[in-house]
Amino acid sequence: FLQGKTALVTGSTSGIGLACARALAAEGANVMLNGFGDPAEIEGLRTELEQASGGTARYSGADLTKPDAIEGLMRLCADELGGIDILINNAGMQHVAPVDEFPVEKWDLIIALNLTAAFHTTRLALPGMKAKGWGRVINTASAHSLVASPNKSAYVAAKHGIAGFTKTVALETAQMGVTINCISPGYVWTPLVENQIPDTMKARGLTRDQVMKDVLLAAQPTKKFVTVDQVAALALFLCKDEASSITGANLSMDGGWTAQ
Ligand code: NAD
Repeated sequence: FLQGKTALVTGSTSGIGLACARALAAEGANVMLNGFGDPAEIEGLRTELEQASGGTARYSGADLTKPDAIEGLMRLCADELGGIDILINNAGMQHVAPVDEFPVEKWDLIIALNLTAAFHTTRLALPGMKAKGWGRVINTASAHSLVASPNKSAYVAAKHGIAGFTKTVALETAQMGVTINCISPGYVWTPLVENQIPDTMKARGLTRDQVMKDVLLAAQPTKKFVTVDQVAALALFLCKDEASSITGANLSMDGGWTAQ
């Protein structure tokens, strides 16, 4: 149902973003991939998406902590794909440390990537969406857009920020055929989660097994990790006409975490 539509998925060389890119391509969308990784692997993903969609897939390694690079990425989307109908602001990073030991440069990077990048992509994509009278912006927020955990001050601040940004833009675009929403997963099994296990072990003096059971899944009543395909399925639903009344929402997919 997305043939002829074009999607930019930031942070789509891995994890949730890659699952979203695959789900959109499977419905026929042209896709701009973005993120870091092994060039040969990324080229493999790009050709896989083209085969799946029967359309076009491109890749940009733009570093989204840099506003200039974001402007370049948006120009590339316009030049190579004819603009953006679906924008998934998904690239994100984490750092785990108590606030008084939090490295200042990590704070700046996390705010730049997890919050400010979405401001830039959204402000640059919206004029085209308004002109067409159709657009979808989907922000991968987090349960941490609603509640906090210790030692994640930058991440929690950025995710609460993107939830507020989403509500504001939803009000500004409510009569323009554009919707903007957050998806807020609990713990999803991706490299982002796997990579924070060593730091959490150090910060809390726990074993790997204890971090998984007592820290990560402790918050999630289902005691199961969310899967990337579940998140992608919700993103796909938000692109449908049936979802045109959902805007400014923060949709939890967290195994009951934020019900507590
Ligand atoms: P991931 O580490 O698997 O993927 C992150 C992606 O972002 C990768 O493609 C990476 O190359 C890209 N990226 C990193 N820095 C970048 C930069 N400076 N510029 C451009 N791209 C960059 O992580 P994931 O778990 O799939 O996370 C995706 C999003 O989901 C993030 O916003 C994260 O906060 C959010 N999220 C994840 C979980 C979880 O449990 N995994 C839970 C809630 C929310």
